[in-house]
Amino acid sequence: MNWEDFRQWGRRAADWAADYHAGLRNEPVRAQVAPGAVLSALPDAPPEGAEAMQAIFDDFEQTIMPGMTHWQHPRFFAYFPANAAPVSVLAEYFVSAIAAQCMLWQTSPAATELETRVCDWMRQAIGLPDGFTGVIQDSASSATLCAVLTMRERALDWQGNKAGLSGQPRLRVYCSAEVHTSVDRAIWIAGLGEENLVRIPTHGPTRAMDADALRAAIAADRAAGHQPAGIIACTGGTSAGASDDIAAVMDVAEAEGLYTHVDAAWAGSAMICPEFRSLWAGVVRADSVVMNPHKWLGAQFDCTTHFLRNPDDLVRTLAIQPEYLKTHGADGIVNYSEWSVPLGRRFRALKLWFLIRAHGLGGLREMIRNHVTWAQDLAARLEATEGFEVVTQPMLSLFTFRHLATADLDAHNQDLLNRINDDGRIYLTQTRIDGALVIRFQAGAFTATAEDVAMAYDVITELAAAGT
Ligand SMILES: *Cc1c(COP(=O)(O)O)cnc(C)c1O
Repeated sequence: MNWEDFRQWGRRAADWAADYHAGLRNEPVRAQVAPGAVLSALPDAPPEGAEAMQAIFDDFEQTIMPGMTHWQHPRFFAYFPANAAPVSVLAEYFVSAIAAQCMLWQTSPAATELETRVCDWMRQAIGLPDGFTGVIQDSASSATLCAVLTMRERALDWQGNKAGLSGQPRLRVYCSAEVHTSVDRAIWIAGLGEENLVRIPTHGPTRAMDADALRAAIAADRAAGHQPAGIIACTGGTSAGASDDIAAVMDVAEAEGLYTHVDAAWAGSAMICPEFRSLWAGVVRADSVVMNPHKWLGAQFDCTTHFLRNPDDLVRTLAIQPEYLKTHGADGIVNYSEWSVPLGRRFRALKLWFLIRAHGLGGLREMIRNHVTWAQDLAARLEATEGFEVVTQPMLSLFTFRHLATADLDAHNQDLLNRINDDGRIYLTQTRIDGALVIRFQAGAFTATAEDVAMAYDVITELAAAGT
């Protein structure tokens, strides 16, 4: 394809995208294909000769699209959202047309300086004080890995990268049982070992880690000659929105001199609404905080903002150049590749800039408040419906429920969930709460309406009744 053909196909792509979104309400949310169906429809070997764009496009529509789950569907109530506001899709289009590698200031000064500016906009938007500095990472998983590596280096007096971990004291990291699996992976990759990730029991309706148990675990580790390195707290856990008491965690961390990371990958978007900030009260004392504008807020995947109280610790951990202190900030030049694991960096700041400007914080707040209200309404309606039990109450826009039955409850709810997702009008996922299988609901699609959430009630109750 040359750029003249691109002109034509680019226009068709814009039409296709607008039509696709206009028609989404009529599509089943979850792909309804059997495993292997797409694979077997694709030729075994790559083509030797060039193929016409029209043929490629036809196969895209006929073979690929039926196998896609529609994440931008207004009735996507599964997982957490991966919202892509139209304006952020447009920004991504420009970014891919420019296709710059934004690893150093000089490899695209505007990309670096816009990143600095929009990270600070996000910092203000979610109510963090101006002592925090932000960077855009590719995922919350990467940000958490960065935090764990920083904990490790700080605890080893910055010798881990150089000397390795053998012969070092056993480093210990603490978290609750509700944290995301990205924490486990970060611990593995950082070389600390799963056995050194200490899971603190949770208590209460917020499923927060027990601060006394945390204190006791640290004391026991010190007595055993291990070296506590840091604490990972969560605001809005993936399963049921578990949220630690950040202030209580910070009391322990400060008394023990430990580095802290707060994972608010999903719930962080809601912090643009001041009334929800009590959920992470005390976050101002954390060392590192991550939230994903690519989840609820609408910045097309991927776009993670990672806020640091002292970026020098992170840069000291990750910068390859020994004169890192000179490049960081002092001369007005920031090289963000020294703040993250990969060297190459996409120009992610552009879509956040477009998004915040096109919707305004007011518009984004309204969306989040609506989702929270609609989820609370749905939970209340289900709770008032005979045969249903709300298992965990709404945490922002997330709650879990199950349908009661006389026989095997887990199997009954798995069957109900399968029938709901085969039906296609809505899409839900399951989780386990205290060992029991429950159905998980979150409202968060960028284009969802109150009617879409009301339809979820109709589908759930209709299919539950049909199965009994
Ligand atoms: C989604 C999520 C993650 C992982 O986010 P990625 O950006 O996909 O790595 C981590 N923690 C929590 C609480 C999440 O909800």
